[in-house]
Amino acid sequence: MTVKVGVLAVQGAVQEHLDILKKAMSSLEISGSPIGVRKLEDFQKVSALIIPGGESTTISKLLQKNSLFDPVRERAKEGMPIMGTCAGCILMAMEGDQAVAKTDTQLLSLMDMAVIRNAFGRQRESFEADLDILGFNGTFRGVFIRAPAISRLWGGCSVLSTFEDNIVMARQGARFALAFHPELSGDTRIHEMFLEQI
Ligand code: GLN
Repeated sequence: MTVKVGVLAVQGAVQEHLDILKKAMSSLEISGSPIGVRKLEDFQKVSALIIPGGESTTISKLLQKNSLFDPVRERAKEGMPIMGTCAGCILMAMEGDQAVAKTDTQLLSLMDMAVIRNAFGRQRESFEADLDILGFNGTFRGVFIRAPAISRLWGGCSVLSTFEDNIVMARQGARFALAFHPELSGDTRIHEMFLEQI
């Protein structure tokens, strides 16, 4: 199987996702390549998309400016696997908190969940934690950087991981939302799970 997997590359932590995708693809013996998606032409080539961490307001604006906002929503509805991490997790949600409303950030609304931006507060801007993830053997080192949390979910969305009463990973069909940065721990298991959806 030869596939092209996209990482939205308008802003944020792009290269780390491309690197770990490459590793995950070779460990699953999938031939193909990860590519950065900046424009509609790039997006049309890929069969799955990762929306990385960064700044959710900026990423949302650039999705609209680059005519990617509606096409991403449409292909997600047709079943394209999409994974949003950190800022990307915020964009996957149906509902944001006041911080999202105040900045007038348009969400992709692809998962039945509500998020809180910067949920872990100033004292804990960045931290790491060993997470139990549903279906994984052994914990996964989660790197949290000004991370959001999933405060509530409903409908077709289910919990994959929690940390101190916060939902930090959820799934709805082939769509995933992670409050942390799975590309920063050197562990390919989450990217492998994502690739298995294609
Ligand atoms: N706090 C950022 C936001 O609200 C997300 C941080 C991240 O992606 N590392 O968009």
